[in-house]
Amino acid sequence: MKKIQMVDLRSQYDKIKDAVDAGIQDVIDNTAFIKGAKVTDFQRDLENYLNVKHVIPVGNGTDALQIALMALGLKPGDEVITPTFTFIATAEVVALMGLTPVVVDVDFDTFNISLESVKRAITPKTKAIVPVHLFGQNADMEAILALAKEHNLFVVEDACQSIGSVYTFKDGRQAHSGCMGDIGCTSFFPSKNLGCFGDGGAIFTNNDELAAKMRAISNHGMVVRYHHDMVGINSRLDSIQAAVLGVKLNYLNDYNAARFAAASYYNAAFDGNDKIITPAQSANSTHVFHQYTLKLNGVNRAELIKHLNDKGIPAMIYYPVCLHLQKAYQDDRYKAGDFPVAEKLSECVISLPMHTELTEEQLKYVTTSVLELVG
Ligand SMILES: *Cc1c(COP(=O)(O)O)cnc(C)c1O
Repeated sequence: MKKIQMVDLRSQYDKIKDAVDAGIQDVIDNTAFIKGAKVTDFQRDLENYLNVKHVIPVGNGTDALQIALMALGLKPGDEVITPTFTFIATAEVVALMGLTPVVVDVDFDTFNISLESVKRAITPKTKAIVPVHLFGQNADMEAILALAKEHNLFVVEDACQSIGSVYTFKDGRQAHSGCMGDIGCTSFFPSKNLGCFGDGGAIFTNNDELAAKMRAISNHGMVVRYHHDMVGINSRLDSIQAAVLGVKLNYLNDYNAARFAAASYYNAAFDGNDKIITPAQSANSTHVFHQYTLKLNGVNRAELIKHLNDKGIPAMIYYPVCLHLQKAYQDDRYKAGDFPVAEKLSECVISLPMHTELTEEQLKYVTTSVLELVG
């Protein structure tokens, strides 16, 4: 049996090697390393895939979030609401910009931002909500969009883990993750569902004005060459990464289906065991399983991880510390106990290997090994 990894990028690459290598060689032959045709081709293909008006390729997912917030014209002291159980990037860019991150709790079942918690956090200074579609499943966007409209707030979706996931509104209308709010952001970090061979990211919007502004901001605030209309940054997707992504986008649905199949195998093995809570599936969102994350109930997590590691199986904790308890984000507004659901999750979650190349033999070995310890 092949060695089990959290993410097996090598096996995935082996299946598309010829097309990827040819794409990269093409960029080298043309030496169009920045803003080349590969980037515009990928941008167009992704716009079509997502059915969104504008895709703005940028340097990484964190920059995508920063550029999105820069384009909204927020001022120091403005409050931006984001969940406390997530990767640091959302709160980080808010803090970097001199805005005030306001963190809220999440739902135990879905790991996603809690609507009730958002409602309680809205003040006259609130300007935006940044929901994170954690682990590959959309947050409750219909309710979030309605709440944002009621309070005149922007919605910036963090779709770094959820590309390809589809949300269905009550009227039957469907939209891709990241294409529902004012702006959506994604990451092409290698291990993401659509990953490149380095750093990469993109911004999505249906708003022409915001799109033009974000394109300029990502390129030094430049609209006409060497004329700078606003303060910008330098954040571009390079052509070699776009060449890789152009090939992999053709397989994104297959990749997400393979993840779903692996998750279904895990679910079938664990369902009915009262010490293991399998991931809940929202009624209004598909799940692309960026991570397969269990909640343990009365199982010693450290012991389980050691048991798995001893058997050659990696396992990770996403995320072990909530944002409001991170050293860099300590302030007198928050203390331990403020967000009980998120804090409980940080103590009981465990993520198992999840990628596009898991074999049945590997999945069986993982589930058997988990159950050996859990019983
Ligand atoms: C990966 C990730 C990011 C950041 O993306 P980078 O490309 O690494 O900057 C932001 N938010 C979430 C939820 C992520 O998973």
